[in-house]
Amino acid sequence: MRLANISNRLKLVTADSEVIDISQETGGRFSPRIQECYERWDELLDVAATLQNTSGKPLSQVPRQEFGIPAPQPRQVFAIGLNYAAHAAEASLAVPENLTVFTKFASSLAGPYGSITLPQGTVDWEVELVAVIGRGGRHIPVEEAWNRVAGLSIGQDLSERTMQSAGPAPQYSLAKSFPGFGPIGPLLVTPDEFEDPDSIELGCSINGELVQKGNTSDMVFPVPEIIARLSRITPLLPGDVIFTGTPPGVGVGRVPQRFLTAGDELVTYMRGVGEMRHRMQARQESGTGPGRGRFRGMNKGVQ
Ligand code: ZN
Repeated sequence: MRLANISNRLKLVTADSEVIDISQETGGRFSPRIQECYERWDELLDVAATLQNTSGKPLSQVPRQEFGIPAPQPRQVFAIGLNYAAHAAEASLAVPENLTVFTKFASSLAGPYGSITLPQGTVDWEVELVAVIGRGGRHIPVEEAWNRVAGLSIGQDLSERTMQSAGPAPQYSLAKSFPGFGPIGPLLVTPDEFEDPDSIELGCSINGELVQKGNTSDMVFPVPEIIARLSRITPLLPGDVIFTGTPPGVGVGRVPQRFLTAGDELVTYMRGVGEMRHRMQARQESGTGPGRGRFRGMNKGVQ
C-alpha cells in the first residue's frame, strides 16, 4: 500500500498511481488527518485495500507543493547515528556496539519538496530510510518488529556540523534540528510492498552529481533490531518517526570537505518510494523581503 499526505489529507495511491481521498471514500470513517490514522492503522489498511480499484486523480498531476509530511505530528522522533560501518569510518568513529540515539525536534520536519534556508555554519546531507510506527508498544521482539511499522519513507537528516562538533560532547539533536532539516516523503510505503524491506537502495545527489548511494542491507542495526532495542527503553507510539542512519558519502567525510551552498539542489531517492527535491537558499539578514515565507510549501501538514 502506498499512502501520501496531500493538501493536508490522507490519500491512498492506487496500483494505477491514482490518488484517492480515504476519508471521503469511506464516508468519514477515517480522519483526513494522516497522523490520527496511525492509531487505527491495521483497520485503515484493510479498508484502503478495498479502494484500490477506485479511480481518482493521477499522482503525476498532483502539484509538488501539495505534498506534506507523511507523519507531520509525531510524539517522538528517534534518529540513529553511525548505523552504517562505512559511514562510521568516514566520520573517524568506531562502529557502536549499541544504538546511538538522538532526536530531531519535530519542528525540523518538512515536506518532500521546497526550499531549505541554510543557517550559518557547515550544512551536510544524510539520506536515510525513515520508518513510521503503526502499532507501537514496549519490548517488541525482533521477529515481530516489521509488523509494527506502518510504512517506510525517505528522509534527509540534514546536519550543521560546526555546532554538532563544537562542544565537549556531540550536539547531535540541536545541530540537526534547524527548520527544514528533517524532510520526509513523498510517499509512505508499507513494508510488504518491498521485495525485501531489509534491502533497499537509497541515495542522494547535489546538482545532478551522485554523492551518496547505499543499501539498507548494510545497516549495523537493521530496522527490526532498532525497534526491539528502542522499545526496551521507551514505548513506541503510533505515528512515531525513526530516522535510521545514513550510508557513506556525506560531505564532512570528504577530502576536501564539502558542504551545501545556496543554490544547490539536493535530490534524495529511495527505491520504491520515489524522490524528494530541495533547493538550498541563503539566509536573510532581516525578517523582511523575499526570505519571508521561506518554508512555504514545505511544512504543509504541520499545524
Ligand atoms: Zn543521520
